Amino acid sequence: MKLCRFNDNRLGLVEGDHLLDVTAALDALPAYRYPLPNTDQLIENIDMLRPKILEAAKGAKSIPLAGVTLLSPVANPGKVVAAPVNYQAHFDEAEADEGIRFGKEIVKIQTIGLFLKATSSVQGASAGVVINHADRRNDHEIELVAVIGKPARNVSVENALDYVAGYCIGLDMTVRGPEERSMRKSIDTYTVLGPWLTTADEIGDPHSLQLVLTVNGQPRQNNNTGNLLIKVRELIAWASTYYTLQPGDIFMTGTPDGVGPVIPGDTIDARIDKLGAISVKVRAA
Ligand code: MN
Repeated sequence: MKLCRFNDNRLGLVEGDHLLDVTAALDALPAYRYPLPNTDQLIENIDMLRPKILEAAKGAKSIPLAGVTLLSPVANPGKVVAAPVNYQAHFDEAEADEGIRFGKEIVKIQTIGLFLKATSSVQGASAGVVINHADRRNDHEIELVAVIGKPARNVSVENALDYVAGYCIGLDMTVRGPEERSMRKSIDTYTVLGPWLTTADEIGDPHSLQLVLTVNGQPRQNNNTGNLLIKVRELIAWASTYYTLQPGDIFMTGTPDGVGPVIPGDTIDARIDKLGAISVKVRAA
């Protein structure tokens, strides 16, 4: 199942180049009142909603995807967990490029661990990236994103993928510089998720997906999730020994080689096998 959020917080079931408006299925979600749980209610209830979504799809209006505004497939992620330098080819280019490493030693992921991005940086593919520090280098990073579907605490590597609700494309936008990653990568609009959530049952093993990114049609990144240094199941198990992963938490699994700068006016096109494609405009503040 491919679920998108579009226009005015509507829910769509994606079929080819159209979507079916299945917003009515959201009526089945429990009524909430303050204080809200720190989970995403749609993701948390996705198994319960599945038959209601299919029911709502019967006779639903079919809308061309080309004409809608795509929002983040996860509306309320509790946290955005991210893996630094998780492809050897990106480790090598970061070590060699002073514009990436900025005088710092590139430390192996096994040593430096994971980091968190602010949830306020999350948005969908249609809104565009707004460059925050135009005088500095702002890079694209295409990443496979796993969306956590149920609470995960101290889970085993072999069971870790059972906690994934689905996958999407992520852009981990980054201003290069001396600051901590969590600051440089948490700028508003610097976490792009899209085009929609593809549920885990359609993906199976996520370690054979090609990631391709171009800027203004020019090739930049092209690699395969088979080359992840720490695999998705290992990332989830590892993170879960530090904190409970909650439904709707976003897991950015790291970017391969080919990162590079973008400036206002550029268009980033990114696609990952089985997950679709996004086209993201880069704008000035
Ligand atoms: Mn990254």
